[in-house]
This record gives sequence, structure tokens and C-alpha cells, in this order.
Amino acid sequence: MSRKIEMQIDHRVEILVAAAKEEALKSDLRSAKMSAMIVDKKLKTIFAKTHNRRIMGENGKFSIHAEENMLAKYFKSVKDRYIFIFRTMADGSIGVSRPCRKCYKLIEESGIFGAMYFNKDGQFVVEEF
Ligand SMILES: [Zn+2]
Repeated sequence: MSRKIEMQIDHRVEILVAAAKEEALKSDLRSAKMSAMIVDKKLKTIFAKTHNRRIMGENGKFSIHAEENMLAKYFKSVKDRYIFIFRTMADGSIGVSRPCRKCYKLIEESGIFGAMYFNKDGQFVVEEF
């Protein structure tokens, strides 16, 4: 069972949002530009940043989610850290960045301390596993 809390957006979160937005804008997906970052519990250090991207497969195009990309690369360095998941919309606003079911499972099983994302009501959520 996870513990979910809504968190106020403070100065530390604003800095993370700015970094996450910059990373998400590197995505080649048009409408779902997302990023994932591994951050420490104090929200002061960013250890790694990834974004989602489009892949050409045998059955056409599909995308690798930012979280999948992150956990594939930095699987060993997630303990006692958070994954900060972010989505930027075409108009520059913050989108819903709750992980999909597949990524949620990956995150939960990775041994990471918690996940941070924006829910459909625009609230900043911290979920600890
Ligand atoms: Zn996903």
C-alpha cells in the first residue's frame, strides 16, 4: 500500500518544475511531452533526467514513456529517492503526469521511495511506497 499526500508547491518544487519542463520539451511527441527525474528526499539534488520519445517498431510507431526510460537506465540508483514526473502541454501549462498503469507498476517494483506528479485536478501529489 502506498501513502498519498498533496503537497504545497514551494520554492524547491518550482525549481524542479522548471528543470522538468526543460527536459520534457526535448520530447519528440507533439502532445504528450513528458519527463522523469530522480531527486533526493530533500528535493535539492537532481540525479538524472529523461524524457519520453517516439520509436519506430515493426508494428508502427510507439513511445517509450519517460519513467520507463528512466528506470531502464538508472534502476540501481533509485533507493531512498523520488521519481518526479512531469508533463508540459502545448500552451505551456502543466499537464497530468500521474504514471500510467504499466509505469506505475515499474515504479512500485523499482524500490524507489516515492513518486511525485500532478493529478487531474492540478494538485501536486507525493506518493510513497
Ligand atoms: Zn507510462
